[in-house]
Amino acid sequence: MSEELLDLVIVGCGPAGLSAAINAKIRKQNFIIFGLDFCSPKLSWAPTIDNYLGFFKIKGEDLRQKFLKHVEDMEIEIKSQRVDKILKIDKHFMLQCGEKNYSAKSVIVATGVESGKKITGEKDFIGRGVSYCATCDGPLYNDKVCAMITYSSEGEEELKFLADICSKIYYLPQHEKVLENVSENVERINAKPKEIKGGMMVEKLILEDGKELSVDGIFIYRPNLPPDQLVPGVETESKALKVNRNLETNIEGLFAAGDCTGAPYQLGKAVGEGQTAALNAVKYIAKH
Ligand SMILES: Cc1cc2nc3c(=O)[nH]c(=O)nc-3n(C[C@H](O)[C@H](O)[C@H](O)COP(=O)(O)OP(=O)(O)OC[C@H]3O[C@@H](n4cnc5c(N)ncnc54)[C@H](O)[C@@H]3O)c2cc1C
Repeated sequence: MSEELLDLVIVGCGPAGLSAAINAKIRKQNFIIFGLDFCSPKLSWAPTIDNYLGFFKIKGEDLRQKFLKHVEDMEIEIKSQRVDKILKIDKHFMLQCGEKNYSAKSVIVATGVESGKKITGEKDFIGRGVSYCATCDGPLYNDKVCAMITYSSEGEEELKFLADICSKIYYLPQHEKVLENVSENVERINAKPKEIKGGMMVEKLILEDGKELSVDGIFIYRPNLPPDQLVPGVETESKALKVNRNLETNIEGLFAAGDCTGAPYQLGKAVGEGQTAALNAVKYIAKH
């Protein structure tokens, strides 16, 4: 556990998270904002944006640069690290980020929406052999055979961690820029996963080329975690985090903003919700 108890942690560095961060800074909070390497891919993909007030026909990438410059000018540093788990323990939150933990009085989740199709059977085996976090669940697979499927090279840190625990790992990277020769017990397989099968627990990973891998566990690294995997016990509605008008979730002190709270998936909504969540988090922190 980190020594310091922070006022606030903001998880996600897209428009919603950045908007929350500038408001938290103006309100003089002691906070950290976490994001992955690139903040935010979605915004950079937008060819032209016509509906963001004051910036008619701006390219998504140009607006992204302006957002990042704003944050930099306010001396806000974005910590480049995925938050793997958020747990409420007594009155405070514990956030697990790789092998490091942080504690905070309040948290704003601004992680966007999950993209990409799930593997057939994936949902059925969550908690029964399918995991999204090697540093959280890896120790359960000591000396076992696992598969690790990564959809972003950032997942390779988790692969190295797992390689020290498991007897063998089948590594299936689904992205470019792949680590070579991680460890002798890691076998790289260039194939797409098709289906996860088993009984009570995972037993097999079936590949699109028809090959079958016998495994005890399957670790899947996507940049975006499903919200209920990121925050156990949080209420969701149609895959989105359920919030009220104050952007409060069912967990006291936990707020959510942006695409992760559901449609419309739009920039203006993300920025507005980031601000509202930050101001309500400030009120919550002051009250508690
Ligand atoms: C092609 C395209 C065109 C678009 N055009 C428009 C448009 O013209 N007008 C409009 O209003 N909207 C448009 N949008 C939608 C707009 O980009 C989104 O609504 C907006 O980016 C949502 O912001 P967000 O902060 O909620 O999420 P995101 O922008 O998705 O940001 C979330 C961030 O959180 C990070 N993250 C996720 N999980 C974690 C974790 N566990 N730990 C740390 N960091 C994490 C992600 O890496 C990401 O950087 C477009 C989207 C696309 C894809």
